[in-house]
Amino acid sequence: MDTRFNEQDLAFQKEVRQFLREAWDEDLQTRVQGTSTMKEGMVEWQRRLYKKGWMAPHWPVEHGGTDWTVTQRFIYNSERAAAGAPETVAFGVTMVASVILAYGTEEQKAKFLPRILRSEDWWCQGYSEPGAGSDLASLKTKAELDGDVYVVNGSKIWTTYAQYADWIFCLVRTDSSGRKQQGITFLLIDMTSPGVTVRPIDTIDGFHHLNEVFFENVRVPAANRIGEEGEGWTYAKSLLVHERLSIAEVADSKRALSLLREEARREINGGIPLLDNPLFAKRLTDVEIDLMALEYTELRALAAIAEGKDPGPESSLLKLQGTEIQQAIQELRMDVAGYYSGTLQGDLSAEELGHDHADAIQKLYFRGRASSIYGGSNEIQKNITAKYVLGL
Ligand SMILES: Cc1cc2nc3c(=O)[nH]c(=O)nc-3n(C[C@H](O)[C@H](O)[C@H](O)COP(=O)(O)OP(=O)(O)OC[C@H]3O[C@@H](n4cnc5c(N)ncnc54)[C@H](O)[C@@H]3O)c2cc1C
Repeated sequence: MDTRFNEQDLAFQKEVRQFLREAWDEDLQTRVQGTSTMKEGMVEWQRRLYKKGWMAPHWPVEHGGTDWTVTQRFIYNSERAAAGAPETVAFGVTMVASVILAYGTEEQKAKFLPRILRSEDWWCQGYSEPGAGSDLASLKTKAELDGDVYVVNGSKIWTTYAQYADWIFCLVRTDSSGRKQQGITFLLIDMTSPGVTVRPIDTIDGFHHLNEVFFENVRVPAANRIGEEGEGWTYAKSLLVHERLSIAEVADSKRALSLLREEARREINGGIPLLDNPLFAKRLTDVEIDLMALEYTELRALAAIAEGKDPGPESSLLKLQGTEIQQAIQELRMDVAGYYSGTLQGDLSAEELGHDHADAIQKLYFRGRASSIYGGSNEIQKNITAKYVLGL
């Protein structure tokens, strides 16, 4: 029995396990992992969570959230990751929803939140631009007020899943006269608006997830502006804190680590399982210790949120350490599987050769290179930590 939990928590853990056994079935797993079925699979997964009342645990109860304790959140997330089930897609339920909840009007809450909860709208994030990534405040996409409509011109880049999105939340420039952090406005833009074009970007992992988004005289009702004109920087920063928390993926790293252990146990190298190789075992143990430490840091952040506090700049530490750990695990898994995951010669598929696990690990490894870049690069998280956490 897990001594960290009381009886109520253990009953909750049982309920979560039961739900996952039923809702995260094999058919859905195949759909979520398939390139062409991913969106439809994720929407179905989120609808099953919605039906159970668990789509947005972190939202206020009156909008459809749960009143889970920190321990319950921890249990849910640990069980979800252990079952290999994905987190919900963050752009809607975690990112834009946090801004709408904090700064949106009652009309905006009524219009957007229920549709996010029921996964009727897929959202994407329009922050980065060519020339405005780490230096996000240099963004140039322009919005000019014409009566009660903003006319938007410019482009965004690295927009994840824009090809699926119904809506994009965007930072746009409405005034260039002051400091670059001033004059930025937060707009919600319907992706079906005339003048919006999405162009794919190829990536090394072979999946299509990144895009460029172009705006040419796109007319956006002023009613879709969040908060005050020119105050978007404040809202954008609060969203980034939530984004960085979700990137840490502690529970998912725990699962990846246990898969790694299993893979290293099976791999015989020099007559012994790789897991028993002292050098390999040391690398694995180092990551394991770092992950345990990160788990406690995450729990502190969750406890702050549960008390209604903002996790603040400490979320940069989580993002930084969380992604370094993810990459360290991915590298170790590549070391175990690498031999089988190179380019295949001849007509046999990876599956026929019994190497398909290695294929998946290789894709994950390549995809994982990006985690130290998105959500604000790790160098930028170090700057934030030095300034706002350590006060240097
Ligand atoms: C897979 C992926 C998905 C993404 N999804 C989205 C999305 O959905 N929406 C969105 O808006 N954006 C998205 N991004 C963009 C991401 O936020 C930016 O790539 C990131 O902020 C870095 O900006 P940049 O690429 O312009 O690099 P740059 O800012 O040009 O940085 C280049 C290098 O210089 C370093 N550097 C820059 N400034 C400093 C400094 N002051 N101190 C120290 N080092 C510095 C950086 O760390 C980096 O190594 C995504 C990126 C990736 C890779």
